[in-house]
Amino acid sequence: MKYVFDIDGTLTPSRLKIDSEFETFFLEWMEGKEIYLVTGSDKDKTIEQVGEKIWTKATRVYQSCGNAVYENGELIRQIDFDLGKDLKKLLEQFLEVSEWEDRYDIHIEKRIGLINFSTIGRTCTQEAREKYATWDKVSGERILFCKLIEDRYPHLEATVGGQISIDIYPKGKNKGQILDELEGSVSFFGDRCAPGGNDYPIAHRLDYERMKMQRMSVVFDVEGWEDTWNYLKNIK
Ligand SMILES: [Mg+2]
Repeated sequence: MKYVFDIDGTLTPSRLKIDSEFETFFLEWMEGKEIYLVTGSDKDKTIEQVGEKIWTKATRVYQSCGNAVYENGELIRQIDFDLGKDLKKLLEQFLEVSEWEDRYDIHIEKRIGLINFSTIGRTCTQEAREKYATWDKVSGERILFCKLIEDRYPHLEATVGGQISIDIYPKGKNKGQILDELEGSVSFFGDRCAPGGNDYPIAHRLDYERMKMQRMSVVFDVEGWEDTWNYLKNIK
């Protein structure tokens, strides 16, 4: 069995460091298992969240939704994606029309293989971040922006990630792409498995392949890292 974990909201609280008791448990749990980590974040952010020990102990780490791949701390491959002028203009229009008023810096961030966009801005405080996340659930802003991007650019995909942002990348270059090189049975843990979430491409593909009897898989759609911990206590 291959165990695949999302990080943010699945192994750690959103954007924060892993709980130290859970870290100790998880490091021991990883022993003798094939563990894969997959996240929209880059290497530095991931190490900040889960610590160097978990990061290097994992069989393979898929950063930037699988667009940068690490094994034993070494980069083994990387794919790039550039923000075109036209898409940049559309994102700037989103900033103009959004009704969310409390703004911070860094709305458009180029990452390996993807563009990350947020109305509130990545430098927001934790409190502002939570307020935005609550508002977004009611207003549906991020889901709407994703739909507008995909309607205008059929070759792109946009998904809701974390609490405040959306990720934009070439079609198919989402978390689901990692399954191309993971054969056999897979257990996946993610906190955004519903349509529009950044774990949906992988959860959906696993469900589909199981239905077609192409693969044995289990999808754990978790509520948070405590929920993940509870499941892992029962997996030897
Ligand atoms: Mg997550």
